[in-house]
Parts: sequence; structure tokens; C-alpha cells
Amino acid sequence: MRYLVEYLPRIKKITVILDECVEPRLVQVKPLEVHIRENNSISIIKLPYEVELQDSLQLTEGTQGEYLLRLRTLASPLEKMNDVMSVPAGKWTKKDLNLENGFELNCLKCNTPVISTSNINKINELPSEFWMELMDYWHCHKPQVGDNELLDYSVGRNTLIPLTGELLVGNSFFLLLPSTLQRQAAMKHEELTCLKCNSILGDRTTEGLCRLYKWKLYLRKNDETDYFKPEDHVLLSMLEALKGNSERYTILKWEENVILLWLFSIDIGVTLSGGKVLKRAVKIFYTSDLAVIKKICDERQVEEIKVNGDVFDAFKKTIENVHDMLPQCSRGLGQWEACYLELFSSL
Ligand SMILES: [Zn+2]
Ligand SMILES: [Zn+2]
Repeated sequence: MRYLVEYLPRIKKITVILDECVEPRLVQVKPLEVHIRENNSISIIKLPYEVELQDSLQLTEGTQGEYLLRLRTLASPLEKMNDVMSVPAGKWTKKDLNLENGFELNCLKCNTPVISTSNINKINELPSEFWMELMDYWHCHKPQVGDNELLDYSVGRNTLIPLTGELLVGNSFFLLLPSTLQRQAAMKHEELTCLKCNSILGDRTTEGLCRLYKWKLYLRKNDETDYFKPEDHVLLSMLEALKGNSERYTILKWEENVILLWLFSIDIGVTLSGGKVLKRAVKIFYTSDLAVIKKICDERQVEEIKVNGDVFDAFKKTIENVHDMLPQCSRGLGQWEACYLELFSSL
């Protein structure tokens, strides 16, 4: 049996969709579980949110051989109603990296601390990952007095150059001076590599700064370990485009490889076949069909994200894995393929 549970908090509905099953019977609904009998075995499907227990709940047969169960959820928390602004601001932000309590960002491959209180004494947040674009724009249009946050960065330093020991935190990378990382990493050609194991940790910006990719590190904090998945980089960029200019279409590029992504819904709950519950997720439609991509790009504004091969491959693999777990009737919309991604959480 394959299934999908989709929870839409704004209309307080959960839909359970079953396929590849023969004469399933609904045995029981509990606040956070649905029990289904097929032949002589019972499958327990976990729900992403508590449902109201009503009489007369029934499985109904859909048009493509699937079975459906529609449930009403208890009132959802208010912050869920706020759509994109309710989404976590990011992962490993300035707030998550507290100098007083201590933390270490270590090389994924050899565990060497790359960033810690031994080489960092100041942390600042980049206002936006589109900073470079803004700087370019401001080159000819100075920001207005009154935009305090912007003035801090532009007039204060006139460029985006951190001090030695200062960590600038972006959505999915950090910016530092090479001198801050002199014992941890070295610039080889245009790549930033770990001094101990030689693995690539980042690259060099046009200003000569070290750009350290978050997905090449893991975070140790309060005796806990946290990872930043390469696909979170893509998801964060998509959410930023949505927050910044209401853009829901993004084209992901690596060399000649492209995927067009459509951020369809935000902050919904999902349970995938196999039992993985995504309490906070996004629904994304995607396509690699060049004719469709051309049509959409001709018709509208599309955000572009250029990534390296490792990010592109990790993202593609993740969305295809999720897509393959979906029941047939939930797999797409016209030429679009469907998938869900979990919204990151931070330690
Ligand atoms: Zn290393
Ligand atoms: Zn498909």
C-alpha cells in the first residue's frame, strides 16, 4: 500500500489517499493515527496534526482506483494562518549561533572545527542573500537616509567587508576574511578547501572573501549535532524569492542542467509512504521539460538560482525520491511533477 496524508492548516482538513491496495477497510481513527486493514494486516498511518473524532468516517473510492479519507482537524495555531511570514527565517542564523553559549561548525568530512569561538568574536547577519545584487544596484543608487539597517552596511563600511574574526551569516553561506580562517582553510584557485582533509568547503567571492557553504559543515551546540542539507539551500532561496518579490517560480541551474520549480503551498503537513511525518512542509511542482520551461519563462518573471553539481544532484535526488513515494493520483498536475520538502528546523 502506498499513501499520502496532506494536512491543509488554513482550511483545517486532512486528506488520506491510499493506492496500490485491495479492498482496504478503515478500522479506527485516533487523534493522530488512522488504522487501515488490508487482507489480514493492519497498517497504522500517522497524521501530521490532530483530527476531530467523528462518527461515520468512511473510505471512499476515487476516480483512479485510489481510496480517500477526509478528516477535519482541531483548530490550528494562529501563526499558521500567516503564510510565508510564519515560515522559519532560516537555519543557522545569527540567533542560532550564540557566541556566549559556544558552538562549533565542523568540516563534514574530517570533523575539524572550521568556525568556533576560537576564531570568531563577532557575528552579523547579511540582510539578504541577494546582497551582491543590491550592492551592485547601490553602486549607482545610494540608499535613502532612514533605511537604518541598510546604512549600517553601506555607509558604515561602504562595502561588504567583514573584520578579522567577524562572521557574516547569509541564508546558506557564511562570509569571512581569509585571515579569519588561516588555521582552518585555504583558498586554492577559486575554491576554499579544508586545511586538514582538502575537501571543498566553499569558494572565493569577487571581493576576495571566503564564502563557506553551510552544507559542507555540521553544527555542534549544547552537545547536539545539526546538519544543513544541500537542498535546504535551494528551498531557502525559493522562500526568500517569495518573501522578497512574491515570486513562486524558480529555475534551478547547474551548467546545462535545469529544473523549473513552482512553490505551490507553504507550511502544510504531510505524511509520506513509509511513515515519515513532515510537520511543516512545502509542496513543490517541478519539471525538466524544456518546452514547458521555455513557455513559463516567456510568460513571466522567474527567479534563477545557480548551484554547484553537489547541490543540484542532492536536490534532484530528494525531490524524485519523494515524488516516487506518492500515490499515482497525487503525482502531478498536467506537465508538472509533485513533491514535498520539509521546512528546516534549528537546534
Ligand atoms: Zn576537513
Ligand atoms: Zn512522475
